Amino acid sequence: MKIVMKFGGASIATPRDMYLRANLLKKYIESNEIIVVQSAIKGVTDRLLKLIRYASNRKKERMDNELTYIKKLHIEYLENLPEKGKILDEIENMLNELGNIIYSIYYLGEATPKAQDYILSFGERLATKIMAHVVSLQGIEAIYLEGGDAGIITDSNYGDATPNMDITKELCRIRLLPLLNKGLTPIITGFIGVDKYGNITTLGRGGSDLTATLIGYSIDADEVWFWKDVPGIFSADPNIVNKPIKIPQLSYLEAAELSALGAKIIHPRAIIPLMRGNIPLRIKGFNNPDEEGTIVTKYSNKTGEIIKSITLIKDICMINIYSTNMVGVPGISGKIFSSLGKEKINILMISQNVSEANISLLIKKKDLKKSLTTLEKVMKEIGITNEIDYMCDIAAISVIGEGMRGTPGIAAKIFTCVAEKGINIIMIAQGSSEINISFVVKAVDGETAIKAIHEKLIEKN
Ligand code: ASP
Ligand code: MG
Repeated sequence: MKIVMKFGGASIATPRDMYLRANLLKKYIESNEIIVVQSAIKGVTDRLLKLIRYASNRKKERMDNELTYIKKLHIEYLENLPEKGKILDEIENMLNELGNIIYSIYYLGEATPKAQDYILSFGERLATKIMAHVVSLQGIEAIYLEGGDAGIITDSNYGDATPNMDITKELCRIRLLPLLNKGLTPIITGFIGVDKYGNITTLGRGGSDLTATLIGYSIDADEVWFWKDVPGIFSADPNIVNKPIKIPQLSYLEAAELSALGAKIIHPRAIIPLMRGNIPLRIKGFNNPDEEGTIVTKYSNKTGEIIKSITLIKDICMINIYSTNMVGVPGISGKIFSSLGKEKINILMISQNVSEANISLLIKKKDLKKSLTTLEKVMKEIGITNEIDYMCDIAAISVIGEGMRGTPGIAAKIFTCVAEKGINIIMIAQGSSEINISFVVKAVDGETAIKAIHEKLIEKN
């Protein structure tokens, strides 16, 4: 089989972890053609962001401490290697370059988005280079490649660049397939690409997922695997429910809903190349490699459960807009949503009541201030009198499963479970896809509501 395997930051959290992952890889390389996509070491991207902030705010001491930490962390991965070859020099050179760039940011007192992406790319470049070396010590002929070398070509929207799927596909095929044919194993940096001017870009946080699925799509892989510290995707957060159930199969749409609605399993944009190429994605646990994991494919497996998973989103706020002169005036919601969109505020859920006198929106807590100012401005422009209020001590619960589409009575069952616990529902929203039913409760009630639904509608099945 042709498989693209992504190792996230948590899978190489320590030098020993990295060694174990390289060892695991060896097992599969004997009978498959494998391309590895590697993320930065756990926590490094966050640290690089801090480093940039300290440097641009001229916090010299903190900047120096952070830099020292990052250097030490990476050097530790090389300490106990049997053969170091040139790798120590290469990594030291990269770390020195990072130091020089950070000092120039410090002197300039600012980091442009382009500079920021270049600095962030060190996380993936360092980790991948080390990983390629550790893999080669297993007797595997590993080839280190950066996203751009592999063919990931993006626009110049630094920090959240979008790959051009057609060009990327063509280039990846030209550059990667001959390597596989020669029996080599490409080890590629996740998260980064290159724009048409040759500048390094990043694909947004968690973007290594997208790198992996893009490459899978490009080379027409048999499967893309994400190696995780859990053995698959579960029906709910194992920290909340008593008997979490591993989901054997999900459709692309179910996985997309899950990712959008709080489960941190897949970068939502990473599903697009899979759908386009009809490439199966497997979520597998590196501690349980012989288990099947969860497979994500085109259709939902209808033989089993109606409800597959329940998610909880915390740290959100609900904004309510009331106005009597919104009634019957077309285009108002459109203007409201596009004004928030322009400010890059992500709206998680919307509900409008039938009278049209009230619109409720759910946003992330961090976006509250910006949302309120934007909304007040746009309402003034439209010229409608309004009242806006908001509520933050809330949680949103989403119940997901394609089997709910067209199955009557599911909503009633869900809300009965919640009502039996005496929990008040503040807002309800259902996407037109009918793949999810979402509702908002007080933050303190969130976990109780999930437990109740899970016990009655998933565990009892
Ligand atoms: N290292 C990047 C991040 O932390 C990309 C990734 O992990 O997928 O966002
Ligand atoms: Mg990650």
